[in-house]
Amino acid sequence: MGRVTVFTLGGTISARGGDANRMTGREVLAGLDAPEDVVLRDFRRVPSASLSFEDLAALAEEVRTAVADGSGAVVVQGTDTLEETAFLLDLLCTTEQPIAVTGAMRRPDLPGADGPANLAAALAVAADPACRDLGVLVVLADEIHAARHARKTHTTSIATFASPGTGPIGAVVEGEPRILFRPTTPTAPCPLTLDPAIRVALVTLSLGDRGELLEAVDERFQGLVVAAFGAGHAPAPLVEPLAALARRIPVVLASRTGSGSTLAHTYRGPGSEHDLLHHGLIPAGRLDPAKARLLLHALVSSGATGPHGYDRPRITAAFTHLNGSGLA
Ligand code: ASP
Repeated sequence: MGRVTVFTLGGTISARGGDANRMTGREVLAGLDAPEDVVLRDFRRVPSASLSFEDLAALAEEVRTAVADGSGAVVVQGTDTLEETAFLLDLLCTTEQPIAVTGAMRRPDLPGADGPANLAAALAVAADPACRDLGVLVVLADEIHAARHARKTHTTSIATFASPGTGPIGAVVEGEPRILFRPTTPTAPCPLTLDPAIRVALVTLSLGDRGELLEAVDERFQGLVVAAFGAGHAPAPLVEPLAALARRIPVVLASRTGSGSTLAHTYRGPGSEHDLLHHGLIPAGRLDPAKARLLLHALVSSGATGPHGYDRPRITAAFTHLNGSGLA
């Protein structure tokens, strides 16, 4: 079994008593029957809602250094934004080494606290050569999820993490990781970076939407993700405002449903997916809106936009790449 570097960031797993303090990394790991070869990095002690892009750029840099040194990595944080951190690390840390992200749903001072079991499972995954080359993994409740699929689906259940439409790619059984299937492509189409200064907006459409929130997407933003209805639909009056935005910045069309892919040519009327794509929007495919925002942020950070506009084919290809194999 390999060496593992553990990065603790705070969250419920370290929220003893529920006040503003978070336990140290050493306290979080205390009492755990951890393999000897564990290096601890007490990285942040915050609720995960307060993690910033600056924090995550610094985390990605440190994780990259650790894995380049031959270590597996475990990132321990709050579950509220865990799916976003995991996906971002998946984009920024291209490595064959296992990287497992975990946390807890129950505070350490409450009955049935799940932190120790999740941490033990994540350490087992990060130390196991069989978990190499899978991209970043989300490990909770003895399930192993690919970061690109994982979502928090329940406010309190310890089985909150799920991979809608695919299921977990493996499980931890009696302390041993068992991989059932492997993603067909790496998550990042090429090495990507994160510029914390870039701003990408996420606007969720809702019934009766008149586009007031779209009007707020001004020069402060270098990209936009629209969490649209169904397979990628918007009210007809919003087509022109969206098209105007897409002439200026990349606008990605995602679905607010929570699973499945956006479509391209099933519906053709005003506000249909075909109409919106025809007006310059870029399909998110299978990526949920929050992850689509992070991929677009990383692409913009990595030079997909410039003084003369944005590279629509490159951005489109990066999203298509995640739709599964078999596509042209
Ligand atoms: N679930 C919260 C989080 O994601 C708990 C907290 O405030 O620590 O961090």
